[in-house]
Amino acid sequence: MIRGTIIVATEICKACELCITACPQDCLELSSQLNSKGYRYAQLKNDLCTGCINCAIVCPDSAITVYRQPKANK
Ligand code: SF4
Ligand code: SF4
Repeated sequence: MIRGTIIVATEICKACELCITACPQDCLELSSQLNSKGYRYAQLKNDLCTGCINCAIVCPDSAITVYRQPKANK
């Protein structure tokens, strides 16, 4: 199993929620905080991310960077 995580460029995010809809693990939500443009930005809400990159692919503003690492099992 691959584990992943994401970093959202919060100042680029426009709260379109496409990434939230696209995530098969239901990992994403909009923050309660606003960025400087007044948008609630996307953020991880749990540790179930698999690094599938769906969110990064659908983001129209390329605001998401995905990181993947093999699950340590040795
Ligand atoms: S990389 Fe995949 S599992 Fe992780 S937050 Fe994005 S869509 Fe969800
Ligand atoms: S798809 Fe991109 S712009 Fe839209 S909410 Fe997600 S991170 Fe923000």
